[in-house]
Amino acid sequence: MSATQVTPNTTAADRSFNPRSLPFFVIHVLAVAGVVWQGWSWSGLGLAVALYYVRMFGVTGGYHRYFSHKSFKTSRFMQFVFALLATSSAQKGVIWWASHHRHHHKHSDQLGDIHSAKLDGFWWSHVGWILSDKYEETDDAKVKDLTKFPELMWLEKYYLVPPTVLGVGLFLAGGWWALVWGMFVSTTLLWHGTFTINSLTHVWGSTRYATTDNSRNNLILALITMGEGWHNNHHYYQRSVRQGFYWWEIDLTYYVLRAMSAVGLVWDLHRVPREVRDAHMTSPQTASAAVPDSGKPAAPAIATASVVAR
Ligand SMILES: [Zn+2]
Ligand SMILES: [Zn+2]
Repeated sequence: MSATQVTPNTTAADRSFNPRSLPFFVIHVLAVAGVVWQGWSWSGLGLAVALYYVRMFGVTGGYHRYFSHKSFKTSRFMQFVFALLATSSAQKGVIWWASHHRHHHKHSDQLGDIHSAKLDGFWWSHVGWILSDKYEETDDAKVKDLTKFPELMWLEKYYLVPPTVLGVGLFLAGGWWALVWGMFVSTTLLWHGTFTINSLTHVWGSTRYATTDNSRNNLILALITMGEGWHNNHHYYQRSVRQGFYWWEIDLTYYVLRAMSAVGLVWDLHRVPREVRDAHMTSPQTASAAVPDSGKPAAPAIATASVVAR
């Protein structure tokens, strides 16, 4: 896009190069150069994929389903563990992440959305908004439930500590090979895997519910993102801990959270009421009702829903 073009939510200045985004590009270069230098390694790829999925759970179960949507409850200790795991993905602090994500839901694909592929283009929704200096600040008003915890505020300030500790640990344990595959390759893949939730899940897939945005359901994206590919379901009923609403909609994050609830690490998993989930089968117009983050259906026809889908 040329410097003179603007889109509904961005200006040319928003899209100009931000020096603070340089480390993002450096990690990409280190990933590619590191693999060339160290040589191809299937065990290295295995390490990268393992750390990808462990940390993707931090992104989906932590940043997204817990901190942004409070779709389940946990102890204060486990809350911090979720925060550490999420932050090890090098996507800033949980408070910054939740603040911007809540903003996205409020304005999704409308004027004001911070990363709308529909309004501002695929590149902007995927990575442009992160590289821009426009969204570096956090709107504390949106995250008062999180800013009251001093340990989360500490981690917000020192959000580079977890990924740095992980990188140093990998190097001490396995040398350059482990650092290249476990940190640089894995983190680069993890970034783009995560970013598909903001870009491709608003472009590619099917639409079950007539939400006010372009959100889609997509099995391939659900596998890459541990269940976040059921994004149309999610925009329809944000607070559900389960984003694959039906048994055939694979949702790895939900399965892990179910296992954690079985041993008491998390509890009060908020599920979509069955009538709300199935509304698209009986009455397409009720299935178009947007559901607020409180988890209370907005449409009167489904406001009394009580049977919870398992
Ligand atoms: Zn979305
Ligand atoms: Zn969300």
